[in-house]
Amino acid sequence: MYDVAVVGQGPAGGMAALRLAEAGHSVVTFDRKRRVGDPVHCGEGLGKIALKNADYPVGDWAIRSVEGNRIRMPNGKSVGLMSPGYSIHRWGLDQSISDDAVEAGATRHEGVRVTKVNRDKDGWILSSKDGEVAKAKQLVVAEGRVPNIVTQIGLQGNEKLRLLPGLQYKFKREDVDFPDTDYFDFYINPRYADGYIWVFPRNDIFNVGIVATNGAKAGLDYFCREHMSVEPDKRVESEIGHRQNGGLIPRDGPIPIFSTKDAYVVGDAAGLTNPITKGGVHVGMLSGQYAAIAIQNELGTGKLSPPSHSVNCHELRGQYWEKSGKALHPDLESHIWYDRIMKRQPWTQQKFVDQSKLIYSLDKRILNLIGEIYDGNNYSKLPWFKMLGVLVRNPDLLPMAGKLLKIKSSLKVTETYGW
Ligand SMILES: Cc1cc2nc3c(=O)[nH]c(=O)nc-3n(C[C@H](O)[C@H](O)[C@H](O)COP(=O)(O)OP(=O)(O)OC[C@H]3O[C@@H](n4cnc5c(N)ncnc54)[C@H](O)[C@@H]3O)c2cc1C
Repeated sequence: MYDVAVVGQGPAGGMAALRLAEAGHSVVTFDRKRRVGDPVHCGEGLGKIALKNADYPVGDWAIRSVEGNRIRMPNGKSVGLMSPGYSIHRWGLDQSISDDAVEAGATRHEGVRVTKVNRDKDGWILSSKDGEVAKAKQLVVAEGRVPNIVTQIGLQGNEKLRLLPGLQYKFKREDVDFPDTDYFDFYINPRYADGYIWVFPRNDIFNVGIVATNGAKAGLDYFCREHMSVEPDKRVESEIGHRQNGGLIPRDGPIPIFSTKDAYVVGDAAGLTNPITKGGVHVGMLSGQYAAIAIQNELGTGKLSPPSHSVNCHELRGQYWEKSGKALHPDLESHIWYDRIMKRQPWTQQKFVDQSKLIYSLDKRILNLIGEIYDGNNYSKLPWFKMLGVLVRNPDLLPMAGKLLKIKSSLKVTETYGW
């Protein structure tokens, strides 16, 4: 009987396993991939602040620094979101966290898909198609976006039909007509419905990808031809041998309940992505860490208090943490504490989801006007006079102006939580 079983070794499950193994617990992990991290489902952009908040060191999987993000409107003008980041080898990050967990004492099974989870009086019984694979007192469900185990433990998973499809190609720098800058570029345009195109510079490669509900491949191929003057067939293989990568992303906010007695849902499995950027590595790592705190409390090696380095103890604490009520009672049951603390995070608030929907519902004209107003400035530095001028010339926008200004608070969360 292990103390903890973790299903899934992406960044969320990897982080939970690492922190629990470091605390001296017996941990067993499973991933259906033959090697953790391969294949990749990611654009491979990560905010530097993710590592700070998750207290995880940068490694050689981080291959290039960028200064921040530019949100580019259809007319080419941009709004800045200057949180610095890295272009990463995503397979490298996942392997690094999971390997660290193994080094700290976790037992890992790769190439094993957990198909069934039951409970008896002692704990959880995990099975694969070949029969029982482990027993554990506590369970972490980190299976990613498509619900399987989540529903077996009686919780509601992501709605499959609401997942957002993404696709990415890689091109050699010399094959494209595109400037090499130290920024992540995001192209918002109703042409890419409910999503956007990203261009992430790497060393000698560009990652170019899309999330969209109206045909990811068509949108991405169009962008490659029109904006980078490159035929999609010119794309190159990744370091681990894939000519494209993609997958589904939760975009509608988190699942209603994050945990049940002795079982914790983390990362994409819990719908935890940033609905604006759709990035989920950072909040996945954080949720894994919070689950580890709750489990340590349950197993008698820790207390129910947030990690001291976590961001909500500092910048955002006043805004969300304390406003949402008194400190959580230290005698709460561990799984209830986890559920409540997840619901207090800035990145799980409904208004964050609502404001992201507003951003992706804007038409071309409004996007272009926003681009004109900001014209390269950071989102936090609104040029008021310019904005008033635009409103005088476009009075029909007045009713919307208030709503648009509120988006700034969501961009602040994105800036603080990065990717
Ligand atoms: C195209 C695309 C681009 C993206 N770009 C970015 C980006 O640039 N930055 C960013 O931060 N986020 C990005 N995301 C989102 C990000 O990839 C996810 O939010 C992140 O991977 C979530 O981590 P996780 O650990 O919860 O889940 P995952 O990384 O999906 O890990 C889940 C793991 O569980 C394993 N698994 C699943 N079921 C079982 C089972 N039954 N038994 C055993 N193992 C199982 C899977 O093999 C997988 O390894 C992108 C997503 C997509 C699809």
